[in-house]
Amino acid sequence: LPADFKRALPVLKEIEQAGYEAYFVGGSVRDHILGLPIHDVDIATSAYPEEIKEIFKHTVDTGIQHGTVTVLFSGSSYEITTFRTESGYQDYRRPDQVTFVRSLEDDLKRRDFTINALALDRNANVIDKFDGLRDLDDHLIRAVGKAEERFHEDALRMMRAVRFQSQLNFKIEDKTAEAISLNAHLLEKIAVERTREEFIKMMLGQAWRKGFANFLTFKLCDYAPGMKKHGSSLVKLTELEPVKFMDEEAVWAAIGFVLHLTDPDLNKLLRVWKVSNKTREITLSTYEMLELFADKNFDTWEIYSLGIDNFDRVVTLCQLFDIKIEYNKLSEAVEQIPIKSSHDLAITGSDLIKILGIEPGPEIGKMLKNVEKAVVRENVSNYFDELKVYVLSNR
Ligand code: ATP
Ligand code: MG
Repeated sequence: LPADFKRALPVLKEIEQAGYEAYFVGGSVRDHILGLPIHDVDIATSAYPEEIKEIFKHTVDTGIQHGTVTVLFSGSSYEITTFRTESGYQDYRRPDQVTFVRSLEDDLKRRDFTINALALDRNANVIDKFDGLRDLDDHLIRAVGKAEERFHEDALRMMRAVRFQSQLNFKIEDKTAEAISLNAHLLEKIAVERTREEFIKMMLGQAWRKGFANFLTFKLCDYAPGMKKHGSSLVKLTELEPVKFMDEEAVWAAIGFVLHLTDPDLNKLLRVWKVSNKTREITLSTYEMLELFADKNFDTWEIYSLGIDNFDRVVTLCQLFDIKIEYNKLSEAVEQIPIKSSHDLAITGSDLIKILGIEPGPEIGKMLKNVEKAVVRENVSNYFDELKVYVLSNR
């Protein structure tokens, strides 16, 4: 067993010694069998939350109404969730009722895909009630039970299907795929934040071109925020060079670029997807820099003002769109920019006031900007005395 599981074994043991069952479940089991690195080990148990809290000294009620308690145990924390079934789903997203049960099989039955419905016990035995091992072997994403019903219960699972397809480079099994096509419209019921999370995980996956192609083919895009009218242009993304996206900002900038959006329209799209302000700002600067590179009409000052930190991201986007740039020359030029921001200037606004003998005001700001530009373009070195001469001769 990988170290992360081993470290958690005493937790399973404690629960079993108290007379209950406990297993590793979910993504960590799937990834372990695939030989991938695992992250967050989830534990499922027949013990009810109150019973878990009796067994362990240090617990946090993270999602107790859904049966999840976080246990702090010898320096690590573990999410322990009581076996449960779900029913209701009036709104296509959240179950009306969660019922705690004592049977592992009932818990596995409510999970989305067979590859996610595996459990691992303390002795490294895999419990596989829905042929998840076979599907892992065949590289298939298959809904547990009747796919249609499962997507009616929770429409987000359709996004999760294309997400796992991209992350794992698996195929979506035929009936599961058909059920997504039939029910894509239900995605409208899902909160934008949840859809976005799966969408971004999909785009950052290794096989994003396949996941995204299905996102379009299944018409999920018609029911995702602000993309309905763009389906035919978005196809172009899947025909580009096979380059992985560096981060969320790269994904959004690429979408803006392939759709030829104006800056305000990209901004609007990011707002309907409820992207964070920080991501939105970085995306817009990245997009602008990408457009400059495509036009081949720019200098280091423009790269600097749009943010040197965006440079590497834009370079990968140029590879994606097969935009030829003189990479060596450019990156050298960027590296040679003598300052990172205006704070690094060897002269300040109050220096200018003294040197020029003028009153504080907007004039000073403008002057400082010109100095910054000259330093970035290496028209003058960033030393106080040289800057002073520069200021006096360019007043
Ligand atoms: P990751 O590696 O991205 O964390 P994961 O499979 O662990 O992938 P999570 O979202 O962390 O995915 O969910 C943990 C487990 O809970 C899943 O493996 C699956 O068994 C179950 N699950 C999560 N979301 C759903 C859902 N919407 N419907 C049914 N089961 C779900
Ligand atoms: Mg997980």
